Amino acid sequence: MELLSALERELKQLDERSLRRRRRIADTPCAPRVTVDGRDMLAFCSNDYLGLAAHPRLAAALQEGAALYGAGSGASHLISGHFRAHAQLEERLAEFMSPHLESARALYFCTGYMANLAILSALAGQGKTNADLFSEALNHASLIDGARLSRANLQIYPHGDTEALERLLKASTAATKVVVTDSVFSMDGDLAPLPRLLALCEQYGAWLVIDDAHGFGVLGEHGRGALEHYAMRSPHLVYMGTLGKAAGVGGAFVAAHETVIEWLVQRARPYIYTTAAAPALAHALLASIDIIAGDEGTQRRAHLQALIAQLKDALKLQRWQLWPSQTAIQPVVIGANDEALRAAAALNAQGLWVPAIRPPTVPVNTARLRITLSAAHTADDVAQLADAFNALEQG
Ligand code: PMP
Repeated sequence: MELLSALERELKQLDERSLRRRRRIADTPCAPRVTVDGRDMLAFCSNDYLGLAAHPRLAAALQEGAALYGAGSGASHLISGHFRAHAQLEERLAEFMSPHLESARALYFCTGYMANLAILSALAGQGKTNADLFSEALNHASLIDGARLSRANLQIYPHGDTEALERLLKASTAATKVVVTDSVFSMDGDLAPLPRLLALCEQYGAWLVIDDAHGFGVLGEHGRGALEHYAMRSPHLVYMGTLGKAAGVGGAFVAAHETVIEWLVQRARPYIYTTAAAPALAHALLASIDIIAGDEGTQRRAHLQALIAQLKDALKLQRWQLWPSQTAIQPVVIGANDEALRAAAALNAQGLWVPAIRPPTVPVNTARLRITLSAAHTADDVAQLADAFNALEQG
């Protein structure tokens, strides 16, 4: 059939450009030591930053949640799918984030992707024809899609360029202005200049939407993420934290002033028109927030920071470039797609799993191996990785 052959031709082109992606099958829980495609590997690719995904306490809480609520929610939140565990989780998250938000309320979503679609379509869309949305150039795909869904007038400002953003804000006559940025950029690991962005939003009367997918649980003394890291507090803030990365389970939440959250409940289609996440997940997440907020969270964050410092110190690269990043995301930029794939394959042959990230996820000629560290790694794991990288680049 012609329709199929057209797709086959395009897939073949992906192969020719070393851009075809493939999935590997893991048979063991998410942890540094995994069995994947039948082989034992040491993995540096998950976003399980605190090493909670396979934590026995969370697995037990998930079972307890299933015993209490069964397997599924059965409906969307506004019909009959909103359970006690969802409500408890939202209260716990609102309380946790309250040092940074006035009249804080939180809303639990099935995924961060949907939370981002919801925030942008509800804040900058919904009949607000006069809305300007200012989006940072390296924002995550879900924010790009949320911007499209909102149908707001979209303006993209260059990475980290607050002066360019200020020029755009100054020129805007829109009734609703929304600035949106990742806090930690997922392919580069660097941090957005959030305090300056907030000052601009306060000056020009804009919302500041922060996607803290890679910061929540990891940044800040208590794990409250980028807001705690930068000691920020403002009614202009709309905060999105994901719960499938450092929190180790799945889903996401938006925290903001209670009026913003009520607006999302009433107007955000990606919230309203989907089946609620299993309440057992919310139940398990209550245990996860306890760990993040407690002494164990503090210890795990400290260990992760030590591993980041160790890796940066041990990597001695000349041709390839370790991107400047203070976070658990440490990209080694190689350049060409095929060279990045060869490097990933060579590490793979040694039992080390580091993913190659290629365009369109990153700009052309910046294909990279993205190392992500977790508190579940040991100093020996990191030493083994650094030695392998150093030998590979020289060899
Ligand atoms: N924002 C960023 C910056 C992300 O990296 C991701 C996940 N890769 C998301 C949002 C989406 O979150 P989720 O995986 O929960 O859909």
